[in-house]
Amino acid sequence: MADLKYRRVLLKLSGEALAGERGFGVDAGVVQYIAREIEEMRELGAEVAVVIGGGNFWRGGAAIAQGMDAPQAHYAGMLATIINALALQDALEQHGLHTRAMTAIQMNEVAEPYIRRRAIRHLEKGRVVLLAAGTGNPYFTTDTAAALRAAELGADAILMAKNRVDGVYSADPRHNPTAVKFDQLSYLEAINRGLQVMDSTALTFCMDNNLPIIVFDLFTPGNAARILRGDHVGTLITGESATATPAAATDLTGC
Ligand code: UDP
Repeated sequence: MADLKYRRVLLKLSGEALAGERGFGVDAGVVQYIAREIEEMRELGAEVAVVIGGGNFWRGGAAIAQGMDAPQAHYAGMLATIINALALQDALEQHGLHTRAMTAIQMNEVAEPYIRRRAIRHLEKGRVVLLAAGTGNPYFTTDTAAALRAAELGADAILMAKNRVDGVYSADPRHNPTAVKFDQLSYLEAINRGLQVMDSTALTFCMDNNLPIIVFDLFTPGNAARILRGDHVGTLITGESATATPAAATDLTGC
């Protein structure tokens, strides 16, 4: 078994990542690619839990903006995450991996209910655990579910997979060519600057529970495995202050 920096990890996948170029639904090729990345993590001996989003099918906020009752809209969003979990579970099993899907809203015909001790046992047995339906509560996001489950399951880190963005930038690098990438940030720096790491509820939770977050590009093959081995990939967020590029570090003194 490889000597790993992070042995038990919580991988957060957005629903958007599963949609690929289509922008909606599930792209079979993309799901196969993600399954291969997770297979590589398992081959190294890591224990992998996955929290999966649902934004490729439904976002509570968008439905609310069109007049839908808020809790109802959020429950619909949580159901969307279950579709994604089933699609990824299928792909993982095609790769020969052992898996369990667990849901925070009971749906016993298709998945196990989420029970913390059972989830830990599955991880210990080498099963990839797919955690669906977010926290099970409206008004939250799957980012918060990722933070909550990482703490509950004793994960060494949260791997925040991004869609073709290789870390946290001072501005959106796709629209702003002067955007600076941070190699490392503290939770407070990320919160104070309103950086696009995860939503603020989730980020505050990670800070309070001292959970390391690594923001990385999922679509650079081998990235997740490199993080497990301890290579510096993407942006690391911990309680320690930034050691970002000189330009960014100067900029941060005002925080
Ligand atoms: N959601 C919720 N509670 C949770 C997690 C998710 O109500 O604990 C709802 C919320 O409406 C959200 C939707 O499910 O918009 C889909 O989740 P999210 O937006 O986090 O998915 P992602 O952006 O990661 O694809």
